[in-house]
Amino acid sequence: MVVVGGGHNGLVAACYLARAGVDVLVLEALDGPGGGSRTAETVPGYRFDLHSVAHNMINMTDIPAELDLAGAGLVYQEMDPFSVAVHADGRRVRFYRSIDATVASIAEADPVEAAAYRAFMDKAVPVVRTILPALRGQMSAREIPERLGALVGSFRHRPAETARDLLGPYDSLLRRWLPSDLTRGPVAAFAAHAASGPGLPGGSLYAFWQAAYHMFGQWHARGGAQSLVDALVTRLGSLGGELRCGAPVARIEAPNGAVTAVVTEEGERIPTRAVITAIDPKTALLGLLDPPLGGRVGADLAATRRGNVVQALVHVAADRLPPYPGARPGDWNGLQSYVDHLDDLVAAWAAAEAGRLPDPLPLYAFTTSAIDSSLAPPGHHTVYLACPAAPATVEGGWDTRRPELVDRVLATVEERAPGFSAGIQGVHAWTPDLMESTERWPGGHPMHLDLALDQLGPFRPTKALGRHRTPVGGLYVSGAGTNPSGGISASPGRRAAKALLADRW
Ligand SMILES: Cc1cc2nc3c(=O)[nH]c(=O)nc-3n(C[C@H](O)[C@H](O)[C@H](O)COP(=O)(O)OP(=O)(O)OC[C@H]3O[C@@H](n4cnc5c(N)ncnc54)[C@H](O)[C@@H]3O)c2cc1C
Repeated sequence: MVVVGGGHNGLVAACYLARAGVDVLVLEALDGPGGGSRTAETVPGYRFDLHSVAHNMINMTDIPAELDLAGAGLVYQEMDPFSVAVHADGRRVRFYRSIDATVASIAEADPVEAAAYRAFMDKAVPVVRTILPALRGQMSAREIPERLGALVGSFRHRPAETARDLLGPYDSLLRRWLPSDLTRGPVAAFAAHAASGPGLPGGSLYAFWQAAYHMFGQWHARGGAQSLVDALVTRLGSLGGELRCGAPVARIEAPNGAVTAVVTEEGERIPTRAVITAIDPKTALLGLLDPPLGGRVGADLAATRRGNVVQALVHVAADRLPPYPGARPGDWNGLQSYVDHLDDLVAAWAAAEAGRLPDPLPLYAFTTSAIDSSLAPPGHHTVYLACPAAPATVEGGWDTRRPELVDRVLATVEERAPGFSAGIQGVHAWTPDLMESTERWPGGHPMHLDLALDQLGPFRPTKALGRHRTPVGGLYVSGAGTNPSGGISASPGRRAAKALLADRW
């Protein structure tokens, strides 16, 4: 059997197939595996994650244990506090794994806001518990109405308000629940990582997801995101599977309604009776598949959406951590949020959707070298700076605008951490156009498709394809654009492999 794409989902799918005794070959376009879970020396001597940093969702599943990834060398370190809000006016909020410690941190600046945050978490924890089975790939479309009904009913005094909260956007939700931008800004910025805007109906889910970090923590793979991939490759090898890199697939042949072969861009034809695609599902089924998926199922897939808002990154190698005034030990352990106002995020989203660079730039930083000495030379650091609301297509084009992005990112850090710029040793910009061409992500979209309610869980990428099966015999879909979600969850990989194994083998 062939898996197209050696990102983490493709490798997870291959491991499960190999574990079941299947002869499996993974074909990866790039020279190395990993896709959005790679780490590289983009500045010589400094190892930066190219995309994902925090591997939280996979650590809410039993997949690492089932595949014994620890036995294959993978070590996850907790990032606690998982986030620190670095407000420009000098105020700080530290979001710890412990809700009590977080509430105490908020209370240092504002006791009323602290009480409101606790009440918001009281509401959010049951929401996260309800949707967890979906994230773990264990919820069918049929169960959704009943589970949502039970959730709404569990808030005995306020079922109607709860229904409204769940259906609305996180912009309104956070304005109702949190009194000021002290916590609204950073919580909204976290929600924005799901590549869903503040005004998206149903997007409140991503703000409720804040509770998941308190419940499960935030996790860094020692050595960088690549360590997950290295462990998967080791495990695949030990199970007898094969990975071939530098082998982009150009075509999946299915002349009579069933898969017969895949053909690489170099023209090598590899006969097979079963294929799992672990790349963007639209590219797979409407581009590579020959003939392309047609009928109602194909039309539904063609109608799925991805917006113009994605992420842009600047890697900064430095001889110091950002020197935030009033910093405390631990402030560099997790994500450092530079979003002061919810309104700024709303404006940024609108700008990016319209193809403009937001001003001010919403930004967050990860400084993983503070907790992992393997990433930078002694006394030096990797400062990963990301804009979660960057336009995929920007006015003037990225080749023209890239230097401006770098200047503005560095100015934003300097404003909050005076003296940081003097320690810069090297800079590398990684913009959506480069991600699109390198990673083969249409629109530079790391989730492959938007994470909207109608494109999530059993509806991802569409209702008909939500169980990973396609109308083409032997053809299955996986990857970030399939059930349940994008990001590093590994669930689409395991689910697709299990669907295939249940059907035929
Ligand atoms: C800046 C940024 C930060 C992020 N941070 C996080 C984070 O902290 N936590 C998190 O959970 N997620 C994060 N993400 C999202 C995450 O990286 C992706 O959603 C995830 O990597 C998708 O994994 P995947 O295996 O489904 O697909 P991909 O990672 O896209 O892998 C697909 C693989 O298929 C290969 N491929 C494509 N076409 C072909 C072909 N024709 N033939 C053969 N191979 C092919 C690609 O080269 C790639 O290796 C971030 C993304 C970005 C951009």
